[in-house]
Amino acid sequence: CGIIGHVGDGDALETLLTGLENLEYRGYDSAGIAVQNGSGIAVQKRSGKVAELKDAVTETSLEGDVGIGHTRWSTHGPPTDENAHPHTDCTTDVAVVHNGIIENYAELKSWLRERGHEFTSDTDTEVIPHLIQYHLDQGTDDETAFRRAIDELEGSYAVAVMFSGAHVLYAARKGSPLVVGIEDDEFFLASDVPAFLEYTDSVVYLEDGDVVVVDEDGVEFTDLDGASITREPETVDWNP
Ligand code: GLU
Repeated sequence: CGIIGHVGDGDALETLLTGLENLEYRGYDSAGIAVQNGSGIAVQKRSGKVAELKDAVTETSLEGDVGIGHTRWSTHGPPTDENAHPHTDCTTDVAVVHNGIIENYAELKSWLRERGHEFTSDTDTEVIPHLIQYHLDQGTDDETAFRRAIDELEGSYAVAVMFSGAHVLYAARKGSPLVVGIEDDEFFLASDVPAFLEYTDSVVYLEDGDVVVVDEDGVEFTDLDGASITREPETVDWNP
């Protein structure tokens, strides 16, 4: 139901938790985050409130400047800890948050299972990290693996994806909202502006078919094939 992402200057953990709290108004049944912690991707997720996630997170040390977070409104699979996002591939090299519904998830899941992928949730979303992993295993780079996986999805999605060891977020949208926030050397992804409004009011509204690559140097706006497109930031005048 809600997505938040952070890249660049500043602490990801605090931004993600604040973002999730700011998105609570949309309604949700589970929450989770994934952060780059130096040695790889660390995930904390659970059914229930953001406050409970926060308690669990403060007992660990999830440090880093790149991360993604999610509040889930279940469509496929009950609200359990396993079904909460972020979802990963078998090796936790890829972490994914998703809003929407992957209509062809059942056929993708059985196709991936035939190729040895083991699934740990009932969600439609979990096919995305496994598809990305499949393409990585074929020898493609992170961005190509992401684009190929997105190209294979049918249905609606706003997705944000993180790869182990890379200070980059990849995101795409079709039929579900996604916005980019820009503040000097700090960048945000979210399903809605209030998620990051205390950090920046400079916002790019993505359109269906947009793919963005966000790193500490900036945001690249492209179509699914990788062709550059122009999206101008707007200053939002938001009266909560
Ligand atoms: N379909 C996904 C799930 O059930 C995402 C739901 C959402 O948008 O929160 O996990």
